[in-house]
Amino acid sequence: MPVYNNQWAVTGHTWAINHIARSLNYDRVRHAYLITGPAGIGKTTFARAFAQAVNCLNDENRPCGVCRACTLIARDSHADVQIIQSAGNTLKIEQIREMQHALSLRPVEARNRVVILRRFHDASPQAMDALLKTLEEPAPYVILLLTADASDSLLATIRSRCQPINLRPLPAATIRQALEKDHHVEPERAALLAQLSAGRVGWAIRAAADESLLSERNELLDMLEQAISQPRVGRFVLADALSKDKPTLLTALDLCQSYWRDVLLMIHSTTTPITNRDRRHSLQQLAVGVKVEDAQRAIAAIRRTAQYIDQNVNARLAVEVLMLDLPRLRLVIAPPG
Ligand SMILES: [Zn+2]
Repeated sequence: MPVYNNQWAVTGHTWAINHIARSLNYDRVRHAYLITGPAGIGKTTFARAFAQAVNCLNDENRPCGVCRACTLIARDSHADVQIIQSAGNTLKIEQIREMQHALSLRPVEARNRVVILRRFHDASPQAMDALLKTLEEPAPYVILLLTADASDSLLATIRSRCQPINLRPLPAATIRQALEKDHHVEPERAALLAQLSAGRVGWAIRAAADESLLSERNELLDMLEQAISQPRVGRFVLADALSKDKPTLLTALDLCQSYWRDVLLMIHSTTTPITNRDRRHSLQQLAVGVKVEDAQRAIAAIRRTAQYIDQNVNARLAVEVLMLDLPRLRLVIAPPG
């Protein structure tokens, strides 16, 4: 009998890996899992490694990472492991129907047919409905791995048929180590990216490879700080600019939330390190000039806005309303360097 190990090609999330390895060793793997956590936290990487574990060909120790199944899955080219994601903004019912047809056929070469349904929060209501059928009567060899930023945007009937795996942000030290060891990022840059990533290892790895991610972050934070300094009219101009592109807007809201969380941390002068270290100068001014309740109200408003955007409400309107909920303070921007 092969043993299922916890040596997956995944950074962190050890408890979740142990949980699945245990289920595999006791032959208690479920037919559907819902993997949640913020964008860039490693949900797809986790799902892929899960597929390797269940389909690895090694006789003793799985996943091995080097057999035919493991290597094909790592390259997303295994015939029995399929990744489905939204084309454009929504995952459509046709994609679910195609998947269902494929699932009605026995695996080509593996023990299990694994389908990774990425960003399932983007699925249309019809697509979610269609998936229910598969969740209710899964073929014995099928394993469905759904990923989503948060589970609350999914139908309750879907949530209740999936085993939840909620991936949490990783410690900065874990991310720094992974960047240095596995991605050969120099120590100083690794430390900065690890801190800015707010626990999202996927973001850190992408930012290490792609300079534009960091400059996009800087531009968005500049805009958010400008908004804080400006009266209503100026804020509406920014709202207009921000709401043109949904992915950028969601990134901006994420950043905005981590920014105001930093303000709260500084108001309470806790020992928890702040995320946006490079903005300490402005954050300090806000910590002195803004009341706790105002910072809390800002965070709640940002969260609410992100939910509205997920539900496809008018983005410009939602951001305009948000702008009215952000405290105003004339920030003295730090000199560069
Ligand atoms: Zn293998």
